Amino acid sequence: MARTPLMAGNWKMHKDHLEAIQLVQQLVYHLDADDYQRTEIVVIPPFTALRSIQTLIDGDRLDIGLGAQNCHYEAAGAYTGEISPPMLAKLAVRYVVCGHSERRHVFGEDNETVNRKVRAVLAHGMRPILCVGETDEQREAGDAERIVGDQLQAGLEGVDDAQATEVVIAYEPVWAIGTGKTATPTDANDMCAFVRGGLAERFGEDVAQQIRVQYGGSVKPGNVAELMGRSDIDGALVGGASLTADDFAAICRYHRL
Ligand code: PEP
Repeated sequence: MARTPLMAGNWKMHKDHLEAIQLVQQLVYHLDADDYQRTEIVVIPPFTALRSIQTLIDGDRLDIGLGAQNCHYEAAGAYTGEISPPMLAKLAVRYVVCGHSERRHVFGEDNETVNRKVRAVLAHGMRPILCVGETDEQREAGDAERIVGDQLQAGLEGVDDAQATEVVIAYEPVWAIGTGKTATPTDANDMCAFVRGGLAERFGEDVAQQIRVQYGGSVKPGNVAELMGRSDIDGALVGGASLTADDFAAICRYHRL
């Protein structure tokens, strides 16, 4: 079953709304109809830039999707400083990152919180990008599969078969994020295949074959083609290299590298 590759640029806490407009304009300058047809391309700016980029996408009829980096799981309420799923849906946000390792490790999000977010995102018609991944110590201790398997199953608790194909999983080994260290294509693919096996156990083989599993962790123009050549890697969640239009465009055009 052919899965459309998904290249998503997670800008983290970078770019104000004016810089964000400039980056998207530079990015689309490098892309053409063939790229959009082969690959789904998504930018994930900070909340403050969502409205400006939505307006740019609408006004110029750009063929790129919009994502958010996080959200609260409640639809509204006394949660000072939080952003709700319906607020994001109203901005035509298509994807919401749930459980990024920086949310888990810096902000203390546990599997239960991540799962509430995944379900809230689905309930409001958007697609979660559920991030899973082991730390260096966990890998060294031989615990990588157990940790990733637990994060996957807990993150998808209560998600039904019909919703499952809307979900994207991003396998992001924590030791490879923002460090310049990339998992070897074989290691990355093995873990993405392990994730797909977990999805098959949960939802059955047919559904698992439709779910996209991304790799994330120091993806750049120099390593993307080899990663994308593997059977179970369906795209990349890209941090640092998505902040430069040339680099992210090259990643989106990996088939030409
Ligand atoms: C990320 O933020 O999800 C990520 C993978 O970052 P980087 O590409 O910079 O390692």
